[in-house]
Amino acid sequence: MKHSDLLKIAQNYGAPVYVYDSEKIISQFDRLTKAFGNVPKLKLNYAAKALSNLAILRLMNSLGSGLDTVSIQEVKLGLLAGFRPQDIIYTPNGVSLEEIEKASELGVQINIDNLSILEQFGAKHPKVPVCIRINPHVMAGGNSNISVGHIDSKFGISIHQIPHLLRIVELTKMNINGIHMHTGSDILDIDVFLYASEILFDTAKHFKELEFIDFGSGFKVPYKEGDIQTNVEELGQKLTGRFNDFCKEYGKDLTLAFEPGKFLVSEAGFFLAKVNVVKQTTSTVFASVDSGFNHLIRPMLYGANHHIINLSNPEGRERYYSVVGYICETDTFGNNRRINEISEGDILCFHNAGAYCFTMASNYNSRYRPAEVLWHEGKSHLIRERETFDDIIRNQVDQPALFVPSLEKSVAK
Ligand SMILES: *Cc1c(COP(=O)(O)O)cnc(C)c1O
Repeated sequence: MKHSDLLKIAQNYGAPVYVYDSEKIISQFDRLTKAFGNVPKLKLNYAAKALSNLAILRLMNSLGSGLDTVSIQEVKLGLLAGFRPQDIIYTPNGVSLEEIEKASELGVQINIDNLSILEQFGAKHPKVPVCIRINPHVMAGGNSNISVGHIDSKFGISIHQIPHLLRIVELTKMNINGIHMHTGSDILDIDVFLYASEILFDTAKHFKELEFIDFGSGFKVPYKEGDIQTNVEELGQKLTGRFNDFCKEYGKDLTLAFEPGKFLVSEAGFFLAKVNVVKQTTSTVFASVDSGFNHLIRPMLYGANHHIINLSNPEGRERYYSVVGYICETDTFGNNRRINEISEGDILCFHNAGAYCFTMASNYNSRYRPAEVLWHEGKSHLIRERETFDDIIRNQVDQPALFVPSLEKSVAK
């Protein structure tokens, strides 16, 4: 979408506002689908936690995506957005047996990541097919070396516990229908991914009733110039051959599943915020926007680099700015960025604002969470209203009778 479209959205809906371009989401989905076009059975399950607005979930459903969920609430959102239960996989970690049972009652695919719950669930519900999340303990070292690491990661069932895992499955007679891994950001390059996949294949051989192997996600997209990004075409080519060979060996066409979040929605998102103040100090020029880490926490939480442009003055001379927010704590969006000259009232645009941006927003400093707008086929559609003061106090139970206001204030007398 064009910069002028974004500017118009900021004018029409106000700032701060998140904008998502459906065309980019669709093209990323198509790209990944094509990259694995030679797999007989491919299933992409969009990871809802990246961006969970109902409109986005409906868009994914319309593309033929399944849904990867990490909480019972995300399962419910998926069902509300029209996903069939069998197209939802529930991959929590550290949740109670009760929550897993509730998700199972809703008919979604259960994925279990620890032996304790596996044993309890298997003993009570031996007929329910269950996927198991394996931790292959693989991570990329420097210069694309592969190392066996992250032995203390909290995710998944360690491959070193396979014998124990097999005893539980045998004892409970439960049905394991899927094998899963999601190593997150540990896997940066394709060789490492393939190496971890071999561990998954080795594990898969132990189970006779598999329907799918889920390779998780962790696909990288570029945030700034020169960033590494996953070459999904190369991965598709290399993993497809190996996967199809494995299926022959296994004696059955299994489904190859992925659960991308960031890859599908990151680049489709733009966050628009208005500049309140331009503040010149002795060493820095700050541009303060009407937002903060309450709306976009990734720069402060992960050191993420979101590219920032000035939509209001595209021809302006480039100058250096530190873009900061209005939160009463350090909330820097970007240090010493070259941006077209900024005036108070200008609209700045933060790129890569589709994944883990709105879903991580909070009401810190009692601020409202922003509106969300979907740009679809040349038109803007409001998909979430900006919050109001009612939202801030919604669940508070005011107890005015407990305390009487004191008229004596602590001022020096
Ligand atoms: C978060 C998550 C994903 C998505 O990861 P991305 O890096 O956004 O693609 C996939 N699977 C599981 C289990 C997750 O928790």
